Amino acid sequence: MTLPRGFKANAERKALEFRTGLGLSSTAPIDIVALAAHFGAEMVPGEELIPRSRFEDLESLQVGAFSAATFEVEGKNYIVTSPLTSEARRRSDIAHELGHIILQHELSEIREVDGVPFRSCRPDQEEQATAFGATVLLPRPVLLAMIRKGFNTPEKIAIAQNVSVDMARFRLNTTGVLKQAQRSL
Ligand SMILES: [Zn+2]
Repeated sequence: MTLPRGFKANAERKALEFRTGLGLSSTAPIDIVALAAHFGAEMVPGEELIPRSRFEDLESLQVGAFSAATFEVEGKNYIVTSPLTSEARRRSDIAHELGHIILQHELSEIREVDGVPFRSCRPDQEEQATAFGATVLLPRPVLLAMIRKGFNTPEKIAIAQNVSVDMARFRLNTTGVLKQAQRSL
């Protein structure tokens, strides 16, 4: 599946707008919870809704069965997160859910895992939310600034930006920033 024309550029533009709004320096990690709050979304730790053991049961049935989900209750969005993920991974999950909210996706399809219903979107919208969330966590100019400070591997960027190594690698690979940084040295 491919993203709509102009999607990536728009996501980069928005990501920088958000950083400006939050008053972040060029390489400060984004406070994704604060950004979500700005868009009226509230975090709900999953274990406040159902026992942690229930998440563990789901996980044993299907690895990664539940990461996060957005529920709209009386016009307000609640992002429910899994207690089983690392903080870095949770930030990715929140950024993805926030992507759905900002892009105004219809959270309509219901998926069930072991009788527990989860809302999800159309596959193209899932891809968009992932791409948008990843861009918000690690916009291109932030990656470039990081590389110029010597944070030039997924591992170094992951630690400094409080994201998963997978996320850092994904953004390094899809933005081509390493090559750009080399050219401009
Ligand atoms: Zn989604």
